[in-house]
Amino acid sequence: MVSRVIPVQPFDLVIFGGTGDLARRKILPALFRRFCAGQMDAQARVIGAARAEMDDAGYRAFARDAIIEFDVDAASDAAHLEPFLEQLSYVALDAAGETGWDALQDRLAGSERIRAFYFSVGPSLFGDLAMRLHTYGLSNPDCRIVVEKPFGRDLDSARALNKVLAEHFTEAQIYRIDHYLGKETVQNLMAIRFANTLFEPLWNSQYVDHIQITVAESGGVGTRGGYYDKSGAMRDMMQNHIMQLLCLTAMEPPAKYDPDSVRDEKLKVIRALEPVEPRDVVRGQYEATDRLAGYRNEVGSRDTTTESFVALKARIGNWRWAGTPFYLRTGKRLRARASEIAVVFKDAPHSIFGSDAGRHRNILTIRLQPNEGIEMGVTIKEPGPGGMRLVDVPLDMTFSEALGPQAADIPDAYERLIMDVIRGDQTLFMRGDEVEAAWAWTDPIIEAWEAPGSEPVLYATGSSGPDDALALIHRDGRRWREIKP
Ligand code: NAP
Repeated sequence: MVSRVIPVQPFDLVIFGGTGDLARRKILPALFRRFCAGQMDAQARVIGAARAEMDDAGYRAFARDAIIEFDVDAASDAAHLEPFLEQLSYVALDAAGETGWDALQDRLAGSERIRAFYFSVGPSLFGDLAMRLHTYGLSNPDCRIVVEKPFGRDLDSARALNKVLAEHFTEAQIYRIDHYLGKETVQNLMAIRFANTLFEPLWNSQYVDHIQITVAESGGVGTRGGYYDKSGAMRDMMQNHIMQLLCLTAMEPPAKYDPDSVRDEKLKVIRALEPVEPRDVVRGQYEATDRLAGYRNEVGSRDTTTESFVALKARIGNWRWAGTPFYLRTGKRLRARASEIAVVFKDAPHSIFGSDAGRHRNILTIRLQPNEGIEMGVTIKEPGPGGMRLVDVPLDMTFSEALGPQAADIPDAYERLIMDVIRGDQTLFMRGDEVEAAWAWTDPIIEAWEAPGSEPVLYATGSSGPDDALALIHRDGRRWREIKP
């Protein structure tokens, strides 16, 4: 199999916050990889913008360091590095003031290229940027803005942000990033469901006992403690990334694979989510160990109640899923860094092998990390003499094995998403109404936690989370899947 790279049209991409952590770790290396793959046109220009004074040579040096540090293939692609850097330049500018905007005007003047503006700055500056792009005549009807997370911290702030952006841009111009949607396996979820006849007839509460979605991290908050403590696992992971995984798993087949058909179906899932009962949600904080600081020490607050873990039971009130719970969990300092969606099918209605054969279930696992791939657990006869003993074995398709060298070329989520922005494809970006609906579902949970005396429960580093989270699923006669590296 040969991967086909279709070059995108020439573009001007302005990265506001072009000297920040995200630009350094993700955006610049992603652009470089697309350049190496031949997807970025030689006419394309990338313009970093931030307040720090720097000339073009300084920005190229910054980008060179970032690419060498964060791109695993930078060494083998060394020949591409200087030509790529030639396409980079820098403008010193204040998003919240008038300094530097004339220079950006000059830089973009007369260009016929596709124009995209990446808002890689703190969310408090999104409105300023939208307004100034308009005031300085930099936006045009075909330009796009890319908006980073977090998109609000509750329904009211998300609505306010949508309103401010809508004053200057149409919905078709706004690309709200959730980088999970750019992951190969996440898109594969749609391929598995809608390009095979095998699964869809079984994809409902008649055959599916329950679904588990786990996004587990083994690291703690580290140096991001200050940022993280203002958000927590619910806002940082559940409301966006896990919600998106839930939507793609649960949605009805869209009529077409196009942005609004897909996003309409996702929105219906979020709107069908039932309110979460207080007993169906657990929030936790990791404790200190002999060697490692606990959550409160790491964020430097002895009485913070922000959660580093959340587990909950979600129920979707529609014909397809009534009676099939979705157990969702995410947290830091857990046993391993592992993310998966597991579709646990019901027991066969009757066992012809008798009760001695034990309990066997088909489980379809979609692994996001590590070892992106798909595994189907099937029950077979244990080989050898001794009667009919049953055993569960995996039909495993690890992408790197099944697809060979092509799997090594799988683009990082940011690579794909930035190219989609240039192509004008919004399928893998969140629409404003989707984001608002997601906040409308999570807000009551977070508000309940803000009540006086409400405290997270503690859990041990390297565990599967708090005991209460185990009880949450045990109560229903089920158990969490093991978090395995
Ligand atoms: P950061 O490291 O703090 O960088 C912020 C960038 O914005 C810097 O380039 C900064 O440069 C620039 N900036 C700040 N104030 C400005 C102003 N008034 N005018 C123009 N530029 C200004 O932040 P980050 O981690 O890159 O995050 C950027 C955005 O991405 C945030 O919305 C964040 O939530 C989101 N995000 C980040 C990550 C990540 O892994 N880092 C992941 C997901 C989402 P100057 O100070 O020189 O102006």
